[in-house]
Amino acid sequence: MQLRIPGPTPCPPEVLQASAKQMVNHRGVEFKDLMFRTTENLKKIYQTNNDLLVLTCSGTGGLEAAIVNFLSPGDKVLSVSIGVFGERFADIARTYGVEVIPLKFEYGQAADPDKVKKALQDNPDVKAVMVTHNETSTGTTNDIVALNKVIKEFDKLILVDSISGMASLDIPVDKLGLDVVIGGSQKGWMIPPGLSFASVSEKAWKANEVARIPRFYMDLAKAKKFLVNGETPWTPAVGIFFGLDAALELMLKEGLPDIFARHIAIGQFVRNEVKKRGLEILPDDQHASNTVTAVKAGDKIDAPKLQKILREEYQVVLAGGQKDLKGKIFRIGHMGYVSEKDMKEVFEAMDKALPQAAK
Ligand SMILES: *Cc1c(COP(=O)(O)O)cnc(C)c1O
Repeated sequence: MQLRIPGPTPCPPEVLQASAKQMVNHRGVEFKDLMFRTTENLKKIYQTNNDLLVLTCSGTGGLEAAIVNFLSPGDKVLSVSIGVFGERFADIARTYGVEVIPLKFEYGQAADPDKVKKALQDNPDVKAVMVTHNETSTGTTNDIVALNKVIKEFDKLILVDSISGMASLDIPVDKLGLDVVIGGSQKGWMIPPGLSFASVSEKAWKANEVARIPRFYMDLAKAKKFLVNGETPWTPAVGIFFGLDAALELMLKEGLPDIFARHIAIGQFVRNEVKKRGLEILPDDQHASNTVTAVKAGDKIDAPKLQKILREEYQVVLAGGQKDLKGKIFRIGHMGYVSEKDMKEVFEAMDKALPQAAK
């Protein structure tokens, strides 16, 4: 089976074995060691010395934590959105009474730093800027370095959704000075769904001291306090922590430069193979994601039918489009536990399935 959706992604055997271990006391010494070790290793992947907190929830819970811990009702934020997940991030803020100034870009486009700059000039009172690093719904990667450079000209908090970027793409948190960066376990981390990660800068902790949105489960200050003793405030997903520990070991053995290079090479390989078949990628080449490729169905392919044939006859699972992109694109996930050989198998199957899915 080739599960090639942009999360959950396949897990290596080492991770599956680790996740199947017997439970331990989550307030005991084994878990404490595990918690300290995984936190330190997570920081290496995040390229940060900031606090790194692990939450038991899906990625969306992490995004919620990024809002409720640093803002107050009535605060203004600039939401830079290039797709479905950017909109979700904004919706969470609205839900908690934050005033969202939307800066939306067309699906398949990356955010234009000049427009972000203009929006910040026009709205000097925004407290934070929300950005999606890698927009999974459109297979588009924002130029986070360029966006960050512009945002840094203004004294704002930068809240980043890097759920489908972190662990696969280079996002040096400290070098860029990103305040809050969210990751999610079932994407590039090669582990099952159930954990979300948040890095928190000094500046973000200052904002936390005055932030008044009510919070309980997602309270990061509480998580920080418990981490001192190698614990989490509430019972963590212990089994996924075991998997995380094993995955981090694999990742650090491969090394960050090689992980990034592998994703760049596979992204390029996938785009070339797509184009060879006369198909088009949704975003432009410069911003096409190296973790997920969105392919236009055009008027030649019935995308849902293609997915169905691939799944039923060739055991290849791809994703469709979300919201407005439903039926218009299909998406190939290539993050985490993936090699060029896996992708070759996907395209071999596609060659057989494409003629059957022609419109
Ligand atoms: C997957 C994903 C999310 C949501 O994560 P869940 O784990 O489904 O809650 C948010 N943002 C991005 C960019 C994602 O890829």
